[in-house]
Amino acid sequence: MDEKAVYTCVDQEHDAWRCRRCGYIENFEADGPEENGWHFCPGCGREIVTEETA
Ligand SMILES: [Zn+2]
Repeated sequence: MDEKAVYTCVDQEHDAWRCRRCGYIENFEADGPEENGWHFCPGCGREIVTEETA
């Protein structure tokens, strides 16, 4: 199974992203987890993949 932590942008205006595995939410200064150098979720420790929202 896919054990990666899927991060979804829940607030594009404030660059807030949420981990769909553990519910951890981070407000980035700009952009998303990848652009901010995040590779692992601090909440569940899994590797982060980002889900683009339509
Ligand atoms: Zn997580």
